[in-house]
Amino acid sequence: MAKKNIPSHQLFDSARAFSVKLMQFLVVPTFVLAPDGRVLIWNRACETLTGLDAKDVVGTKNHWRGFYETPRPCLADLIVEGRTQELDGLYVTHGDPEITSTFGVHAENWCHMPRRGVELYLAIDAGPIYDDNGELLAVVETLRDISVQKRSQTALERLALVDGLTGVLNRRGFDEQMTLEWSRARSSGLPITLLMIDVDNFKSFNDHYGHPLGDECLRTVARALGEAVLRPNDIVARYGGEEFAFILPGADAAGADVVATRIRTLMAEAAIPHSAGGIDGHVTVSVGGATVMPRIEASSLDLIRHADAALYKAKSSGRNCFVAWQENSTASHEAHL
Ligand code: GH3
Ligand code: MG
Ligand code: MG
Repeated sequence: MAKKNIPSHQLFDSARAFSVKLMQFLVVPTFVLAPDGRVLIWNRACETLTGLDAKDVVGTKNHWRGFYETPRPCLADLIVEGRTQELDGLYVTHGDPEITSTFGVHAENWCHMPRRGVELYLAIDAGPIYDDNGELLAVVETLRDISVQKRSQTALERLALVDGLTGVLNRRGFDEQMTLEWSRARSSGLPITLLMIDVDNFKSFNDHYGHPLGDECLRTVARALGEAVLRPNDIVARYGGEEFAFILPGADAAGADVVATRIRTLMAEAAIPHSAGGIDGHVTVSVGGATVMPRIEASSLDLIRHADAALYKAKSSGRNCFVAWQENSTASHEAHL
C-alpha cells in the first residue's frame, strides 16, 4: 500500500491535539498556566480532585478557588510571577526555591478544598516549560492527594512520643519539648521552670498491692498531675518509672509554688490508699523545682540537674514536700505539701 504524504502543518496540529488530549486524560491531577497566569488546561483528574469544572476555570485566573477559600497564589503562579522566595509563608514544606526557575519545585500543603468541603494534604509539583529560545511557554502543576499517608505519619509520630501507660508525653517527648522550650525561653527572655515529681514509697506500694494496681496508681497520679497545669504551653511528661516532669514556660518561682500547691491539693483529692508505708496512709509525691533565666552558656541539662537536686532534697527532708532550687544561693526554698 502506498504511503500517504501528510503535510507538516497537519502533523504539527495533530501532535498538538494529541498533547492536549494526553494532558486532559492524564490520571494525575494537572493544570497548566499560560505566561500571563491564565489557565490553559484543567484536566479531568483535576476536576475530580477539586470539584471545579474546566469550563469554569479555563481562560481565567480562578484556579485558586479549587484549593483555597480566599485568593492566594498557587505554586504555578509563584513560578509564572518569579515569586518563589515566598514559598516559606505559603506551604507546610517545600523544596529549594533557588533551582525552581530551571527544574520546578515541590511543595506540600493542607488545603480546605472549598468545592468538596474536605481537608486534603496535597503534594504539589510545578515546573516551567520553555521554547527553543528560552521563552516561557507555560507552567505545569501536578497534584497528588497524600492525606492518608500524612495523617498516619502524624499519628505514628505522636504515638512515638506518648507514654503507653499514662497517656502523657514519654521521655522522648519530654526531651524534644525541653529542647524546644529552652530555645524559646532563650529568645523570649522569659524564665522557665521545671518541676520533677516522684511518687513517694512506691516500691512498697507495688510490693503490697501488686504491679497491676501500681500501674493503675500511676495512671491516677498522671491524671491528677494533668489537672495541675492550666496554661496551654505547660507540658506534663513521664520522665521514667514513677517520676514525672512539668515544663512550665514563662513561669517564675512564684508560679512554680502555685503549681506545686495545686499538685498537693489534687493528690489529696485523689486520696489513693497506701497502707504499706504511705504518708498518712495515702500515696503522696515529692516535688523538686528549678526556675532559671536561660543564659547562653547554660543548657537545659543544667535545669534538669537543678530540679533533680531539689527533688533529692525533698526526699531527704521527709517526702511529701516541695523544694525549689534557687540560683546564686546554696539555700533552697522548702514547703511541706
Ligand atoms: P522514694 O520515696 O524514695 O521515691 O521511694 P520509692 O519506693 O518510690 O523509690 P524506688 O526508686 O525505690 O522505687 C520505685 C518503684 O517504682 C520501683 C518500681 O518497681 C516502680 N515502678 C517503676 N515503673 C513502674 C511502672 O511502670 N509500673 C509499676 N507498677 N511500678 C513501677
Ligand atoms: Mg519514688
Ligand atoms: Mg524514683
